[in-house]
Amino acid sequence: MLAQRMTLLSGSGTAAARDAAKVAAATGRQIVDLAAGEVIIAPPRTVREGAIAAIEAGTNRYTDSIGISPLRGAIAEKLTKNTRVAWTAENIAVTNGAKQALLDAAFAILDPGDEVIIFRPCWPTFPSQVLLAGAKPVFVDVKAPDYIPSIESIRAVVSSRTKAIILNSPNNPTGAVYDRATLRAIGDLAIGYKLWIVSDECYSNFVFSDQGHESIVTSHPGIRSRTVLVNAFSKELAITGWRLGYFAAPPEIVSAAKKLQSHTTSNANVIAQHAILHHLCVSDGTFEREMHERLAKTRQDGLKILLGLVDVDVPRADGSFFFYLDLSGLLAKLPAGSSFRSANDISRVLLEAAGVASVAGSTFGDPNGLRLSFGAPPERLIPALEKVVATLNSLKNRQSAA
Ligand code: PLP
Repeated sequence: MLAQRMTLLSGSGTAAARDAAKVAAATGRQIVDLAAGEVIIAPPRTVREGAIAAIEAGTNRYTDSIGISPLRGAIAEKLTKNTRVAWTAENIAVTNGAKQALLDAAFAILDPGDEVIIFRPCWPTFPSQVLLAGAKPVFVDVKAPDYIPSIESIRAVVSSRTKAIILNSPNNPTGAVYDRATLRAIGDLAIGYKLWIVSDECYSNFVFSDQGHESIVTSHPGIRSRTVLVNAFSKELAITGWRLGYFAAPPEIVSAAKKLQSHTTSNANVIAQHAILHHLCVSDGTFEREMHERLAKTRQDGLKILLGLVDVDVPRADGSFFFYLDLSGLLAKLPAGSSFRSANDISRVLLEAAGVASVAGSTFGDPNGLRLSFGAPPERLIPALEKVVATLNSLKNRQSAA
């Protein structure tokens, strides 16, 4: 008999989508994976060199549970530059990816019964971790085309139990990038109600609109003492498997994470820590620039193809590397007897009929959404998107996948 806590968790919808793609591929079919939350590209040479040098130097010991000091210092420097707010190593904890940074934050600030405001569609780990901490997710639904919450909609769900708001801009899955006015208003609200802000900025390097990424601590410097700013190298350096993330926060949160990590995972992988430190010390930013250029181009090319959709609006895709389609219009137009009643059905037909793996919005708490990653190699992405458009446009005349 498993612990009660396990009933709080469902499996990862993204992983399930990728598993379905693997099963289809195992039958010999050509499947294009647009379900992955990562950019398919080799990691930077500087990271690989740093790892090899650390291995050759015989680096093998435990480190401080929240990371080696020079790495914490280098991250503080990077964040100071990026956010235009001063950080020191005292503010930084190095973690096993952003996921652990978020879990540290949840365990450090939440008590059983506390409520946490989450904007939905949302990355499912946010509510799962809130539940694990004994607290309650309170959702505010955001809508196409911009998927940005209004302040009134947030204020409407604040209660005496509200403890925190989780922000994720640029957003997975919607691609929304929050504007300065919204961030300032959320900051004012958090200060007014004495709430924490947990700001997941993992996709900060992937903004394609003119406004660029701005952290809430830049938009609203007064919010800093109640913010846990989470980020990671997973996406920006295409090293999702290396497990290197961090957060920046007031020192009491860093001390809490130090205790937590010392009793859970100990330090993040020491070789990865040295590899990233090397990258931060010697890199001139070419990798990040080139990756951005590639994604900006595939985004443009992809959006042009999506213009061919008849009953689905072209998404804004301002940030992250996802096209998030709102299928509600298309679903409403399908004939009453159609076997496609939800985005789940449509995701399934895309896999079966077009050989394209996608993630249905139900994974993110949205029955009408469909997420397609443009982190796939361009030569595979473009033909796959053409098939997606042809398949979606044919649904009104199609009774089943076959
Ligand atoms: N935060 C968001 C919004 C994500 O989409 C993901 C991964 O998909 C993560 C965090 C996880 O990052 P990491 O791999 O660094 O734990």
